Amino acid sequence: SKRLEGKIAVCTAAGQGIGREVAEAFLREGATVFASDLDETKLEGLDAFGDVRTMALDVTNSEAVAAYLAGVETPDILFNCAGFVHHGTVLDCDEKAWDFSFDLNLKSMHRTISALLPRMVEKGAGSIINMSSAASSIKAAPNRYVYMATKAAVIGLTRSVAIDFIRSGIRCNAICPGTIESPSLEGRIEELGRTVGGTDKARTMFIERQPMGRLGTPEEIAYLAVYLASDESRFTTGTTQLIDGGWSL
Ligand code: NAD
Repeated sequence: SKRLEGKIAVCTAAGQGIGREVAEAFLREGATVFASDLDETKLEGLDAFGDVRTMALDVTNSEAVAAYLAGVETPDILFNCAGFVHHGTVLDCDEKAWDFSFDLNLKSMHRTISALLPRMVEKGAGSIINMSSAASSIKAAPNRYVYMATKAAVIGLTRSVAIDFIRSGIRCNAICPGTIESPSLEGRIEELGRTVGGTDKARTMFIERQPMGRLGTPEEIAYLAVYLASDESRFTTGTTQLIDGGWSL
């Protein structure tokens, strides 16, 4: 039987990259998925994979998030995927950039979790999965100042929710990927290419920092997300699941 049969999932930033792949995997495993993204057009085609409800949603808009979540069925799975990679050191990060990254990468999770948790607790079960990164409190990467700060904070938020609601049947885990192929990674490769002498050189630099000698794929993250979403992982909570091709070794 399918691994998420009968489960309801809420997925943010499901339009492309890891979010898209995870939403497709949840659907293939039989879940009903409430999939949202800032750009609704990116959600096209998800219906080919199963029972999906798509909607435009900006996770930085508190009112919109509250209104959207009030209208979804109480989920068994909440996958908080939305995030943005700011490039630069502390000296490149003005208050606007700081606030934007913390709002999108962290406060968005506070919005969705605080809105849905009371109903999930009432249901007596739930798996919350938060997108962190190896580049957080785990592995230092150059020019990822505010990004690392937000992703480290995601780990703290995750562990806090895990411990406070452990007796309510709620699990909360963080996924910490290394470098994963995605549309936004392509953008970062192009950006780096402008300073290191070309896109190919930049891509090689991203690949070489992965000890396995290749980038990870969104599919590899989706396998982990399905596991964390399913009852197979029912003894696992508050963890930071490193999936980084040995980057942090
Ligand atoms: P991506 O960056 O290519 O796509 C991000 C998606 O988020 C887009 O579809 C975009 O429309 C959506 N989005 C942007 N702002 C939004 C908002 N305000 N509200 C709702 N949706 C919004 O995808 P990715 O690279 O797979 O990254 C997904 C997550 O995984 C992020 O949290 C990222 O930090 C994390 N991550 C990625 C990597 C990697 O190497 N790709 C590594 C570690 C962690």
